[in-house]
Amino acid sequence: MSEPQFTEQDWRRLLLALGEDPDRAGLQDTPARISKAWKHWTSGYAQDPAELLKAFEDGAEEYNELIVVRGIPVYSHCEHHLAPFFGKATIGYLPNGKIVGLSKLTRLVDCFAKRLQVQERLTIQIANALMTHLEPKAAGVVIRCRHMCMESRGIRTPGEETVTSAMLGELQPNLALRTEFLALAREA
Ligand SMILES: [Zn+2]
Repeated sequence: MSEPQFTEQDWRRLLLALGEDPDRAGLQDTPARISKAWKHWTSGYAQDPAELLKAFEDGAEEYNELIVVRGIPVYSHCEHHLAPFFGKATIGYLPNGKIVGLSKLTRLVDCFAKRLQVQERLTIQIANALMTHLEPKAAGVVIRCRHMCMESRGIRTPGEETVTSAMLGELQPNLALRTEFLALAREA
């Protein structure tokens, strides 16, 4: 069974519904461009986090401290308006013998961000995927994003960020660990 695909005709209809003339010079290639762009913006559905985190690196048996990566770019679209939301993620985990490369964490964020999302779910999905596939002692995720659907409509002040967090494993009962992670996750 083949997946339903948007055709360029669908995007032409959207342009018409917006009151535009899809045949004017500036818009002639727009339906093809939108199709291509949305394929990219929703490419996360085809990615498997288990596959992404399978190729962990050994050699962290003696390492018992938090690993925190800050500034991971987040580009997503809200499922309520299909409007962009974007910002940065901080991921921390307390390894249990397994570590992953920085590029894997960036790709893990992308795998869930390149779907229609709400920021809260994006945050917990990343944390859950780490716990399930990397099996660390703890995993924490903090995401700060600007939401175009809110800013552009005057619901939020431009530049205002929405902050979400998820703390799993030992980060839940261990207040000292939690405090350390949040201090490391705080923007300098
Ligand atoms: Zn929205």
